[in-house]
Amino acid sequence: SDQNLFAALRAAFPDDLDSIAIDCGDSPQPLAYTWRDLDRGTAMLANLLASLDLPPASRVLMHVDKSVEALMLYLAILRAGHVVVPLNIAYQAAEIEYFIGDAEPAVVVCAPRNFGWTSRIAFQAGTKHVYTLGDDRSGTLLDRAAFQPDVHETVARAASDLAAIVYTSGTTGRSKGAMLSHGNLLSNARVLHEAWAWQRDDVLIHALPIFHVHGLFVASHGALLAGARMIWFSRFDARAVVERLPEATVFMGVPTLYVRMLAEPALDRERCAGMRLFVSGSAPLLVDTFRAWRNRTGHVILERYGMSETVMLTSNPYRPEDARRAGTVGPALPGVGLRARGEDGELVPPGEIGGIEVRGPNVFSGYWRLPEKTAEEFSADGWFKTGDVGRVDADGWVTIVGRNKDLVITGGFNVYPAEVEALIDDLPGVVESAVVGVPHPDFGEAVVAAVVAQPGATLDGEALIAALKDRIAHFKVPKRVFVVAELPRNTMGKVQKNLLRQTFQRSFT
Ligand code: ATP
Ligand code: MG
Repeated sequence: SDQNLFAALRAAFPDDLDSIAIDCGDSPQPLAYTWRDLDRGTAMLANLLASLDLPPASRVLMHVDKSVEALMLYLAILRAGHVVVPLNIAYQAAEIEYFIGDAEPAVVVCAPRNFGWTSRIAFQAGTKHVYTLGDDRSGTLLDRAAFQPDVHETVARAASDLAAIVYTSGTTGRSKGAMLSHGNLLSNARVLHEAWAWQRDDVLIHALPIFHVHGLFVASHGALLAGARMIWFSRFDARAVVERLPEATVFMGVPTLYVRMLAEPALDRERCAGMRLFVSGSAPLLVDTFRAWRNRTGHVILERYGMSETVMLTSNPYRPEDARRAGTVGPALPGVGLRARGEDGELVPPGEIGGIEVRGPNVFSGYWRLPEKTAEEFSADGWFKTGDVGRVDADGWVTIVGRNKDLVITGGFNVYPAEVEALIDDLPGVVESAVVGVPHPDFGEAVVAAVVAQPGATLDGEALIAALKDRIAHFKVPKRVFVVAELPRNTMGKVQKNLLRQTFQRSFT
């Protein structure tokens, strides 16, 4: 039984292998890759891995800049039956030392500029093979692969065999390695293929990083499984992306990408006339962004919700477009079970807030080398506790209101940050906000907010507090509002609330 994810992706290549698979949007010279290039390139890389005589399911760690060759390396790791460990290129030596120590990869591929310190760390940890790969086709990996045959028989894998260890973004603490199988990834790719009506003649603008589920799995698998062309950007550039929109049909982004594209005067209806789908995820999309996008382009952004441990869980409907709702992430995808449970362990009634739990063929088997953490995060009846808090309405639509860990308990009352943030964001002169709890001698925790002003607007914390007091229960109103230049975000555009808590931790003590 061959359940190798690569085999399914390869089977979806179009018959005409000489047609363009990937067109590089930000290469200085015109540069394109055909489907045959992908087939041959991944075969050569898989043969190189095979020549190393590694035990099956060895880990291959990638810490490289985004490039088409990096995507090919990912595919080759699957093809050769090994396990990919993609890492954020922003990580530095101390972080890489942790990840290499944790994942114990047989092979490490790093950017040429990082070879010195990376190889030292890797060899010390017992890794025998370290290659380099630049974003301009430089490096030892391709040099070695060049001598390999360009045909390779995909190694058979079972659906339950490990395909990837994806480290979570580390938004709430130390990153954990989520173990995803070929079956987890393929089942989710197939469900999204149907749900979002992927077609062979689609053209995806791929402008997300490929060390994370959004860019590596949701975007790449979507295009590959449809045999559809990608316009590839090795880094996001709002102007260049807007320029290529007329050729494209699908775009995927984190919310900040939409905000940056809205700042481009060239973004208009005409440029988006051929587009059929804009997807947002990885962090909450502001209602303002959703509305501004609809006004400017005539398109309704489809927001979906997922995580490293589960790939995609919910999606707003593809059709009709008007049914997509701002501020919600839609119902569970087919095959995904989703429920909300209260602190007492009972299911909460529709519309009430609870901890979101999920199950399905897409849900990971556990955290790499963290059996206790894994046991904690699964319920007795086998549901994964996402750590997100939200409500599920009577029709099954899900609204995420925040993370468990971000919940503020002040004087015994629960405050869900997303509710307060939405109200603050609606006040005049406010771009966005983040609400966190910090230690308080009387209340245990106190609600505080960091607020970003619109250009030219002057905000006064006390005035904002007064305005909020007319709108919500006083225990939810921030005791202090700090006006900041910007919210701290990680590379996936997620607000790092742990940093805000640190910054403001001594506000009352
Ligand atoms: P860590 O688990 O290390 O703290 P992380 O949870 O940010 O980091 P990821 O797996 O990359 O790591 O992100 C998944 C999380 O992103 C989800 O649990 C959820 O909190 C958030 N998220 C994803 N999509 C959405 C969305 N559409 N709306 C709100 N939150 C979202
Ligand atoms: Mg998480």
